[in-house]
Amino acid sequence: MSAARIVVVGTGYVGLTTGACLASLGHRVTCVDVDVAKVNRLSAGRVDILEPGLAELVSRGLANGRLSFVVGAREAVRGAEGVFLCVPTPMGAGGSADLRAVEAVTAEIGDVLPPGCALITKSTVPVGTAKRIAAMVGRDDVPVVSNPEFLREGTAVQDFLNPDRIVVGSDSHAAAAWVGQLYGDLAAPIVVADAASAELVKYAANCFLALKLSYVNSIAELCERLGADIDLVTEGMGYDRRIGRTFLKPGPGWGGSCLPKDTSALVKVAESVDYDFRMLTSAIDENIAQRDRIVAKIAGACGGTLAGARIGVLGLAFKAGTNDLRDSPALAVSSVLGALGAEITAYDPAVSGGIAGMTVVDDPYQVAKDADVVVVLTEWAEFRNLDWVAIADAMEGDDVVDTRNLLDPGMILDAGLSWQGVGRPRAA
Ligand code: NAD
Repeated sequence: MSAARIVVVGTGYVGLTTGACLASLGHRVTCVDVDVAKVNRLSAGRVDILEPGLAELVSRGLANGRLSFVVGAREAVRGAEGVFLCVPTPMGAGGSADLRAVEAVTAEIGDVLPPGCALITKSTVPVGTAKRIAAMVGRDDVPVVSNPEFLREGTAVQDFLNPDRIVVGSDSHAAAAWVGQLYGDLAAPIVVADAASAELVKYAANCFLALKLSYVNSIAELCERLGADIDLVTEGMGYDRRIGRTFLKPGPGWGGSCLPKDTSALVKVAESVDYDFRMLTSAIDENIAQRDRIVAKIAGACGGTLAGARIGVLGLAFKAGTNDLRDSPALAVSSVLGALGAEITAYDPAVSGGIAGMTVVDDPYQVAKDADVVVVLTEWAEFRNLDWVAIADAMEGDDVVDTRNLLDPGMILDAGLSWQGVGRPRAA
């Protein structure tokens, strides 16, 4: 396909990655945002989010003139052949997806889109949104295409350029196929669907991952009660190709900017068609129970009460490899600990600055100072290589609660500390 003129609205994790990667594939891309300061930083090649390879792609795109950043979608879309909507769709009041940003951009640009220009939703939007957008635009010459994004934060560029699949859905088969071709020669199957099916793929996939994680957290709880080891159980499960090895690790509960809002939104979509999606609501309930079990485990390590306990927290981001704190389980656990009276000192290699209810430090060893318990809440590999003897020396107590099963229990024991993970035998 020859180079297309593309506009990407929203320059967050998804929009910036989409814009920079499409430019790297040869397209001419204008990225739009309402955040003037962000547009200025990006125009100067400064990328705020932690994504390997992204800053390089942005610099290259700026240098070769294929990528630019502007404020003002209405002006930007003149001359565009395709416009990607990559704006937020957070959890709204009542749990449904909040589509105000999607609707605001649609209202802003609907009447000035060039004839034939495809309006493409990459934001995660409930089934029926393409239809709703088409009705808002009210033009036969503007096809609406759903092209959900599956990238993972921390590996966004890698995922965008090496996708497992590309999904495009529209009532206009030609428009869907055209969007598929924008991805050029990326070696991925392209699923061309109707708009509703494409929209549902994204929720069905994300919610399946949430179910898998809640299931594994439940199995980990059973392991603790039955004296089994979740590492061995999941190793044995993971060799089964019908199950697969990924998303089989227990933790402090799932979170991040997508799974909580997408599970909630799908429950609401199901309700709207009189379907009680009990399996999914159970997974959400189980996730809250998992957080509470982790809090109880930490309370136990503090001698039964959190009031006045000094807790050193390692990891705040919702997962390793990102600085994203949105709906982070590490923050959720910390905030319950704080509410129950614990004093929290936290360190995360990608997070600096103030967070309410805790002291954030920029040295991992500072969290250990006088701590009753040290808790690992994000699976940063570098925590494995800390000097655990030094940590033991600095601590008041001698318990490490490893909610990610990240550390080598033997190493913690050798340092003179005791270790407890999730679904694994305690090392003391
Ligand atoms: P984000 O919050 O990182 O970025 C959104 C950007 O849109 C911000 O820069 C914001 O300033 C901008 N914006 C908001 N309103 C705007 C408007 N009216 N006009 C122009 N710009 C506007 O969000 P994100 O994480 O990139 O998510 C975007 C969408 O992609 C969501 O629907 C999300 O569910 C979906 N998604 C996210 C991920 C992920 O891992 N983050 C993965 C797949 C899909």
